[in-house]
Amino acid sequence: MRAEPASRGRGGFEALDACVHCGFCLQACPTFLATGDEADGPRGRIALMRALEQGELAPDDPALITHLDRCLGCRGCEPVCPSGVGYGRGLEAARATLARIAGVAAAARAALWVLTTPGVSRVAYAAARALRATGLPGALAGWGTFRFALGMLAATKPEGPRRPKTADDGPGGVASAVPGRLGPSSAVLLFRGCVMNGLFSHVHDATIRTLAVNGYAVRDVAGQGCCGALHAHAGLLDDAQALARANVAAFGEGPDDTAPIAVNSAGCGAMLKDYGHLLGDPGGERLATRVRDVTELLSARGPVAGAPLTATVAYDPPCHLLHAQGIADAPLQVLGAVPGLRFVSTPDASLCCGSAGLYTLAQPTLSRAVLRPKLDSLRAAGATVVASGNPGCLMQLGAGLRAAGIPAAVRHPVELLDGSYRKAGWYETNRGRAKAV
Ligand code: SF4
Ligand code: SF4
Repeated sequence: MRAEPASRGRGGFEALDACVHCGFCLQACPTFLATGDEADGPRGRIALMRALEQGELAPDDPALITHLDRCLGCRGCEPVCPSGVGYGRGLEAARATLARIAGVAAAARAALWVLTTPGVSRVAYAAARALRATGLPGALAGWGTFRFALGMLAATKPEGPRRPKTADDGPGGVASAVPGRLGPSSAVLLFRGCVMNGLFSHVHDATIRTLAVNGYAVRDVAGQGCCGALHAHAGLLDDAQALARANVAAFGEGPDDTAPIAVNSAGCGAMLKDYGHLLGDPGGERLATRVRDVTELLSARGPVAGAPLTATVAYDPPCHLLHAQGIADAPLQVLGAVPGLRFVSTPDASLCCGSAGLYTLAQPTLSRAVLRPKLDSLRAAGATVVASGNPGCLMQLGAGLRAAGIPAAVRHPVELLDGSYRKAGWYETNRGRAKAV
């Protein structure tokens, strides 16, 4: 049976009704700052979306399509809006309308198919990892579209050699036998996703280890898949719902069906937390309430401090963590558990980096225009590590830093905590038990 729509009634357009055209959101909009065009800002786009809903603009209107396509969907306009406009909800409704009537570009559909279809994506990610291992993507990275894509791939490379699997590692590499230090462990389930699992499995490993040190027993869940965020952002709500239902079935059944779901990708976390809206049923609502960003889980336990590391760190919050989930402090608490780090702040940290899922590939010129000021700030701050908790941000920032010749690495916050714990001796095992120092 065909899935119910994500929203009934006006399909989400009603979230835009509160807009009073004050313009307070303009300076928080990266695309408006890049182009200076009112139609590339939230206020102008809201006018376009209202016209679409009311039939004043046709779905194939070139200006409508251009300016909505240029929106990053970063939701940076939401927290600064005094009227509480639900811009993201309205954008989702508008894009779903366009996708239903005018269709979605074949290239976008093909990219989604390759990146998120099990079997197909497994081959694609294996090929990408093999290319990454040659070192060529890093050597050839630069500003052109193809060279920037190589830089994005190079940015997924783990720091140093991978930790070898041990007998303590359970199926899927989950270190289920490593106990936490803080009393009895509580169970959490790991959301693996598609891009994270294909290119950032080292972040999953770091997530499992750091959670274990902080008293969580991480378990794998069979049958899970892509969260559907990329599909929802493209307006393909039926596809997103199908993926969501598969995840609800995977995480919603079995002995751990009340356990928190640990997510280390901000984009996936925001989508999973929105399953109640996407599916409009109790199963989606129930799953959404269990979703936690990994930094939320870690900060709830402190987290335990590790050994000192030396780096100058700029934290760049992912839009889907800061704006969509409202999580600001937890990543800083995770980074704060690593002694020795020197932190620098940049004035435009809360602005989008220009990644935005497929946006960096579909809108390369504007994506780079959004990114460049941020790179200038990072260069001026002297950061040697840029920390961010989302795969797209890590790839975009990593490629940009490399193209701009800035000698800084990109790391997920849990990777830094993991390195700190490793140095502190947390992972030295003795008959399968973690050794405290
Ligand atoms: S979205 Fe909010 S901040 Fe922006 S113009 Fe409308 S009411 Fe003002
Ligand atoms: S979602 Fe981001 S790019 Fe789109 S209008 Fe809002 S601030 Fe601008």
